[in-house]
Amino acid sequence: MTKFAARVERTELAATMAMAARARALRAEGHDVISLSLGEPDFPTPERVVQAAHEAALRGETKYPPLGGTEALRSAVAEKFHREHGMKIRPADVLVTNGGKQAIFNVLMSLTERGDEVIIPAPAWAGYEQTVNFAGAKPVFVPCPQEDGFMLQPQALERAITSRTKLLLLNYPNNPSGAACTEAQLKAIAEVLRVYPHVWVLSDDIYEHLLFDGRKHATLLAAAPDLADRIVTVSGVSKTYAMTGWRVGWCFGPAEIIKPCTVVQATATSGVSSVGQAAALAALTGPQDFLAERAAAYQTRRDIVVAALNAVPGFACHQPEGAFYVFPSIKGCLGKTTPGGRKLATDSDFTMALLEETHTGVVQGSAFAMPGHIRISTATSEAVLAKACARIAEFAAALR
Ligand code: PLP
Repeated sequence: MTKFAARVERTELAATMAMAARARALRAEGHDVISLSLGEPDFPTPERVVQAAHEAALRGETKYPPLGGTEALRSAVAEKFHREHGMKIRPADVLVTNGGKQAIFNVLMSLTERGDEVIIPAPAWAGYEQTVNFAGAKPVFVPCPQEDGFMLQPQALERAITSRTKLLLLNYPNNPSGAACTEAQLKAIAEVLRVYPHVWVLSDDIYEHLLFDGRKHATLLAAAPDLADRIVTVSGVSKTYAMTGWRVGWCFGPAEIIKPCTVVQATATSGVSSVGQAAALAALTGPQDFLAERAAAYQTRRDIVVAALNAVPGFACHQPEGAFYVFPSIKGCLGKTTPGGRKLATDSDFTMALLEETHTGVVQGSAFAMPGHIRISTATSEAVLAKACARIAEFAAALR
């Protein structure tokens, strides 16, 4: 049997694959399956963005793109950061990537290797652990429980830092908890980081425009510009503009790290689809008012789900400040048995039983390094969310 590279062997794909496969099978059998497991906006890509891509293709923008991104898109990213945070960055320090995911990959492959530790506040998007493992570094999870609003506490960060710490991964608004942070909270984290100059930070701002209750996005670079020489900021068009399939993201940071990130990108790809870049440029430079409307729609959905779930026995729900997820604790349901006779020892038992017995798909918290919770995506209609919550409530009420 062929022995494959260790880096692939030690990298596990998302634990949700088995669930997704079972949901597909149930649907094929004719069941009315509701899936709330996807991290993808249900809105369409704005029509003018699609048109811009079409026109670019017709104009002949179909050749190999510049490796680091088109000048126009890099300038638009710099201009966007200036518009939103009042801070100037150089277009030359922007690297356009195949989604935010490749930006994260580029940074981890550039910065970390065996023996290095990467601090991941938990709960966290599963892609972080996967990529840290691929790079050969060690993920160090710092629990950020619901009692703390899922927010990284400065003391907890300080306790986790060692001489081997290379990078801290920050993600607010957060997947899966929907927690967002304030500038003051970031300044408190920056205080700790000032004591440890060997620690870099990747600020994953992919949900930056999905904020509720009049909140404004706070990001570490703007909160602590004196740390600019070790902050890489990541974002992209996937979540903000409902463009997950276009695969355009970016990172920016000091030239020192953008250079090796470009080497990683050059090794794996020849840059980002020229048509996708034209679409992303249209998204960033066009009207932005619909973003507030979409955030308001997600806020209404959040309100529906949080109100419904907080009335469910065994559930305790934090009110998310952003993103399109709700991440309730289901600890009060564990140890019980379902009407179908399934014993719920873990959150994975809960999600599998919920799927089998009510045909409702959600993701277990352990997939995000925080067992005892489930993640519900609100990227679907209010009617579907209400129906799913009713199924969950009936399921929980019947536990013995
Ligand atoms: N970061 C977080 C926290 C995410 O949830 C995701 C996608 O689910 C990504 C990054 C990657 O986004 P994309 O590669 O689509 O830009």
